[in-house]
This record gives sequence, structure tokens and C-alpha cells, in this order.
Amino acid sequence: MSVRKIPDSERWKRRRPRRLKAPFALTPIAPSPAPAPLITEAQAKAERARVARWVASRIICWPPDNCFHCRRPIVYGAKWVELVNDDDRARFHFDCEPAWRAQQELAARRALGLDRSERK
Ligand SMILES: [Zn+2]
Repeated sequence: MSVRKIPDSERWKRRRPRRLKAPFALTPIAPSPAPAPLITEAQAKAERARVARWVASRIICWPPDNCFHCRRPIVYGAKWVELVNDDDRARFHFDCEPAWRAQQELAARRALGLDRSERK
């Protein structure tokens, strides 16, 4: 058996791509008393992405002086947040945005058939 020495100029061809360290590997796994999830992490991630896209698609161009959730005016000096989907922007009272989001996520899960709470 002979070992052929590879010249340095050829070595790059044989080099394996470096594997990136997965960032989640550094996260300690907390012991959980909850039962094992019925879906895998990857499925859950994909579902969250679908829900997020669905919710984003609900954003339409809305007059910036009115809240997209409660439709009441956003008075000067009030805290507000803006959600943007491409060119569509809608503003919310600071406290209305989480309520709107929760409502939309629920609607999204129903629309996408991901709502497990109603399955028997
Ligand atoms: Zn509001």
C-alpha cells in the first residue's frame, strides 16, 4: 500500500465543506413535564411559518390614523405599532396588536386546518 502525497495545489478539491454548527445545539434542553408533542419540531416550525404568512396576508393598506384592530383613531401621542406586508401597512394601538395577532393566528390555524384544539 502506498500513500500518495497530494500536492497543496490539489488539496482544495478534496476538502469537505465545513459543517456549520447548528445554533440550536447550544441551547440547553430544559426538562419538561409536558407530554411528548404530537408533531415534530420541523412540522411545528413549518406550521408557524404558514400561520405567519397567512396573518401577514391579512394586512391591507389602512389609514394610518386609525387602528386596524378596533378601528378607532390613534390619537396623537398614543403608542402604536405598524405591521407591514410588502407595500401594505396597517397601524394598531400598542395594546391592540397582540389581540389582533392572536385572533388572526387562531383564524389562520382554522383556515389552514391546523387547529388541534377542536379535533377529537
Ligand atoms: Zn385599537
